[in-house]
Amino acid sequence: MITKRYTTDVVIIGAGIAGLWLHNRLNKMGIHALLLENKAIGNAQTLSSQGIIHGGAKYALNGILSKATQAIGDMPARWQACLKGDGDIDLSQAKVFAQHQLMWSKQQLSSKIVSFFASKALSSRMQTVDNTARPPLFQHAGFKGALYQLDEPVLDIASVIQCLVEPWQDRIIQFASDTDIQWQQDNGAVQSLQIGDDIQIDAQQFVLTAGEGNEALLKSLNIKKPAMQRRPLQMVMCKAKDKAQALPAIYAHSLGSGSKPIATITSHFDKDGNVVWYIGGNIAEQGVGKNFEKITSEATNLLKDIMPWFELPELSWATHSINRAEPKQSALTRPDTAFVETKNNVHIAWPTKLALAPDLADKVIEKLQTHITPGSHEPITDLPTINISEPLWDRAFK
Ligand SMILES: Cc1cc2nc3c(=O)[nH]c(=O)nc-3n(C[C@H](O)[C@H](O)[C@H](O)COP(=O)(O)OP(=O)(O)OC[C@H]3O[C@@H](n4cnc5c(N)ncnc54)[C@H](O)[C@@H]3O)c2cc1C
Repeated sequence: MITKRYTTDVVIIGAGIAGLWLHNRLNKMGIHALLLENKAIGNAQTLSSQGIIHGGAKYALNGILSKATQAIGDMPARWQACLKGDGDIDLSQAKVFAQHQLMWSKQQLSSKIVSFFASKALSSRMQTVDNTARPPLFQHAGFKGALYQLDEPVLDIASVIQCLVEPWQDRIIQFASDTDIQWQQDNGAVQSLQIGDDIQIDAQQFVLTAGEGNEALLKSLNIKKPAMQRRPLQMVMCKAKDKAQALPAIYAHSLGSGSKPIATITSHFDKDGNVVWYIGGNIAEQGVGKNFEKITSEATNLLKDIMPWFELPELSWATHSINRAEPKQSALTRPDTAFVETKNNVHIAWPTKLALAPDLADKVIEKLQTHITPGSHEPITDLPTINISEPLWDRAFK
């Protein structure tokens, strides 16, 4: 029996970066939006991400400025404005781990690549780093390669989530993951949704930002297209067994001869303050399905290979398997931009990159604006406390 009936202008389902960002933008604009989450906030891809606000440099390593590179190129400046408190969203309390993601190769680069990096198109996004400005790891005499810094900050995503949740937490509804969602439709348009037996929400527009969960939601709405693809990863983590020998905090892509970084390392801090290296790139893409011993022994060899001058301390290891959820592409490629498609009054969205959350919100808002007449809605007073996911560094090593 329905005991709680709420009204709103927009319902957003899924509180990862996409839903949280959009929820903030809409409420700030005076469009009432309720955000629904069926697990802990940020638990899925968002708190599994490396927190790099890509500007596209990594997609240009093959010497071509692709559509992906151009679409994502504006994102670091959008986020930087938010970090200063001058952007669409106030992220002035978020923690910046590094102002620049680095990129190194252990050998000198070919003159062709060096001139491409110095070309007009790329020189505004990446610069060589002087010996004196290098982080300690790359000041070692044994490092003989090239080091670039990219105009791409790396953020503590847990702190970003905190900034996004706080202003509008009285408009976030959490419920158990096994609760059914049912839709009431009229002529194909959704009028309201029912959560479990007791909550009904009436709204004008509905946005699905549930990441991998969009697939089941689309099925429940009988929407066949857009379809979703999953691109799995097995990420690897390590930290020094002895905190006194903590790994240095680095944020860097390691470049080989191919068009993708061999490895991308970001550094995070567990609750005891120990540095955790979180390793993505080829090892995570090719590591899917490998057992713990195999992938961690490959990761050890990889680290020895890409930084031969650095003596690794004794390490503890963990792995994390996670799917990237995106609109279906041919040959499981990565979509270039944030994706939004509309079916009646339902908008299906995948940012495809954390960095593209501002782009996704722009696209959804553009679609919504012509269809919304902001109404007045009763505040919700009986919400349970918001539950934000525990950071990966504190759950993975258990
Ligand atoms: C290992 C890894 C590293 C990455 N690193 C980067 C990076 O450094 N930079 C970058 O730009 N991008 C990165 N990405 C990509 C980025 O993390 C994702 O594109 C982005 O986080 C997706 O956000 P989202 O909000 O769409 O989805 P998610 O973060 O997956 O959030 C979806 C939310 O919806 C909820 N949900 C699901 N079903 C329902 C339902 N039925 N009802 C209510 N709620 C529901 C889930 O519980 C979840 O909280 C990385 C991805 C991975 C996997």
